[in-house]
Amino acid sequence: MERSPGIGGKVASSRDAAEVVYLDYNATAPMRPEALKATVSAMHSVGNASSMHHPGRDAATRVDHARRQVAELLNCSPGELVFTSGATEANNLALHAAYGRGGCLVTSAVEHPAVLETARSLTAGDPDALVVLSVDADGALDLDGLATTLGSRDVALVSIMLANNETGVLVDLRPIAEAAHAAGALVHTDATQYVGRLPLDLNELDVDLLSLSGHKFGAPQGVGALFVRRGAALPYRPLLVGGGHERGWRAGTLNVAGIVGLGAAAEAAYKNLDHEVVRIGELRDRLETSLLVRVGDCEINGRRLARLPGVTSITFPGLPADAVLAAMPHVAASDGSACSSGAPSPSHVLLAMGRSREDADSTIRLSLGHATTEQDIERAAEAVVAGVQHVRTILAATDGP
Ligand code: PMP
Repeated sequence: MERSPGIGGKVASSRDAAEVVYLDYNATAPMRPEALKATVSAMHSVGNASSMHHPGRDAATRVDHARRQVAELLNCSPGELVFTSGATEANNLALHAAYGRGGCLVTSAVEHPAVLETARSLTAGDPDALVVLSVDADGALDLDGLATTLGSRDVALVSIMLANNETGVLVDLRPIAEAAHAAGALVHTDATQYVGRLPLDLNELDVDLLSLSGHKFGAPQGVGALFVRRGAALPYRPLLVGGGHERGWRAGTLNVAGIVGLGAAAEAAYKNLDHEVVRIGELRDRLETSLLVRVGDCEINGRRLARLPGVTSITFPGLPADAVLAAMPHVAASDGSACSSGAPSPSHVLLAMGRSREDADSTIRLSLGHATTEQDIERAAEAVVAGVQHVRTILAATDGP
């Protein structure tokens, strides 16, 4: 039987009524068994991958193997990967290096803060150095705005995500990359939510830089990578300077166990990808259909566009998302991106899509993945329907006649 994780990472049977249905894969996914095994095994070994003695060479061999596994998932050369602590670092490194070319940064209003805030911080003091493109009500990028910017400005880098972490809306990056390259700009994509969830071929996708994070597709937390295309006109500007690891792009002793887990997760994701895309997409569609029929007044964000198979962002107008989530404690879901939860501000993604602040505060995100089962979806649908009903009843009672 497939198993899904319980609170605190405990893996428990999804038949146990007391346990949590985990539907927050976009915040972090449970580790794939292959990645867990490989990580633990690597932790039993000693060795700095830079050391010349046998244990050191052994660690370097494991890292080389993981690099090949990740490269196979992306269809790139292993030598084009720089291991990092995750996508936040990869995004920072990409933008920092590219901004060193001179020219402005172009990004979109729905990027993750690891891109948006990095771009704002790099260009602070020079508002002309940053162009933030808008999106429409579906979450589609303003391509006219991009063309105008590329035609009128000296652009160092265009950074547009492949898949949105809140809505799952996908971006067709090929025409964007083509236009950016024709204007002499470099192209970066934050593919954190895409890698390991949909097939990706860097031979086809004409980007210079791509960020990924292991914990979104079954590797441990705290490991990721930046793809840097060989020959890209990128000034050498590492963020972390020191011992010259990762061909000088990222100094610091390599996180061997994390990297080994990343490689194993990449291999497992690659092997199962076609099957998982279909299976997870069907589960998500079933969940959405059930909620649309049974809850009635709700709306799915980005539904008119192509989306990641495992994400649904649902607005229940008038019902505070935190109250709905509190009324369904056996489902682990999110009221926005996990990175911003805890902060009182509404989702910048939903606001950029023209949603009101009230609607943004009435939106929950359910995200599925490799270990999600049919039973999980049935239980989650029941819980959401009951939770919404509960909150409606309370609000009706407090509103009075
Ligand atoms: N970009 C996107 C689109 C994300 O969803 C996340 C994680 N929430 C990040 C970047 C940051 O990734 P990490 O946790 O590896 O730093």
